Amino acid sequence: MSGNALRRRGSRRVNVGGVAIGGGAPIVVQSMTNTDTADARATAEQVHALWRAGSELVRVTVNTPEAAAAVAPLRERLDALGCGVPLIGDFHYNGHRLLTQYPDCARALAKYRINPGNVGQGRKRDEQFATMIEAACRNEKPVRIGVNWGSLDPELLARLMNENGRRPAPLEAAEVMREALIASALESAQQAAQWGLPPERIVISCKVSGVQDLIAVYRELAQRCDYALHLGLTEAGMGSKGIVASSAAMAVLLQEGIGDTIRVSLTPEPGGERSREVLVAQELLQTMGLRSFAPMVIACPGCGRTTSTVFQELADKIQTYLRGQMPVWRERYPGVEEMRVAVMGCVVNGPGESKHADIGISLPGTNEVPVAPVYVDGARTVTLKGMRIAEEFQAIVENYVANRYGKRKNISIKSAA
Ligand code: SF4
Repeated sequence: MSGNALRRRGSRRVNVGGVAIGGGAPIVVQSMTNTDTADARATAEQVHALWRAGSELVRVTVNTPEAAAAVAPLRERLDALGCGVPLIGDFHYNGHRLLTQYPDCARALAKYRINPGNVGQGRKRDEQFATMIEAACRNEKPVRIGVNWGSLDPELLARLMNENGRRPAPLEAAEVMREALIASALESAQQAAQWGLPPERIVISCKVSGVQDLIAVYRELAQRCDYALHLGLTEAGMGSKGIVASSAAMAVLLQEGIGDTIRVSLTPEPGGERSREVLVAQELLQTMGLRSFAPMVIACPGCGRTTSTVFQELADKIQTYLRGQMPVWRERYPGVEEMRVAVMGCVVNGPGESKHADIGISLPGTNEVPVAPVYVDGARTVTLKGMRIAEEFQAIVENYVANRYGKRKNISIKSAA
């Protein structure tokens, strides 16, 4: 791992319902539901699924009186399921009314997300924003001031465009837009502070949909403030495009130590799982060596030496199996999330990669002897063959986990006693 990845920007620490953001805390993964929040049962199911996938904070839309009324019952449902994940309320246009008229909602939420571009126009804008900040102060909740490219405060943008027009050498329009995003976030944070919200309860985000714009905006933000920063590329898109765009933008910033919490805003494919965005966020952090969430499967891409799909199926099966175990293993086998499992397609790189992993298997390529040597902690152990290689390898992984990480827990229990 590069030393740069560890040099995190010094930001203030914010406590969101018991989860620390910023101030050197591990980078937090968050996600957002796409259910109607007024449907507390469906929303509870989705929040629960996101939490099981590893989301550490979950944001829900609070857009109507019905949605606001459903938030406290939603919190109760989740608590009854043993799911304590903090909920963040996303407010636009009517947040000042909902947070005032539904005090149970204001109390049940762990953080409010306020978009300064969507709190009102003219004189009403300040009044309505102040009402929301007062609700946050009254309930001792942090606030994310979340600016978005698509809903930038039009008055602020017009002001900056006018100022730019009077410069001897005006900036490009894109530069003024970026400055408007940053100014909207920082001026709103300053207002919130004047109305009594401490800086330790402010998180900032400035989301855009372009990779280079996001990098430029957050580099500038990181220079100009020490608020905790929420990072994400908005409207990243679907499938591989969304994953690549989000990863390309966020990886550059994370490597520079910028970003205290992240969300990967993927558009789910029809019938696709919402929790995919959580897995992508975790994999981004884990592949960068910034956090570990689940054992990592190292698999070769396959080539002309692998004429069957056996090794692809085995890699997929093992990855799915390991992820599926994590809700239980996280508690039972501390440290298992750092395990590396190699599933390789032939002898060219198979044995070498397997030796570097905690546990690895090298499957036979075309014209190779149909056997699969298994390596544990760098040493060749058994050789599997026949039709049940997948099942037998899974059993070996299971035993390895129980022996290595189960013992670790017993040791820590003994030393605590
Ligand atoms: S390890 Fe073997 S099968 Fe896998 S990509 Fe390399 S040469 Fe091909």
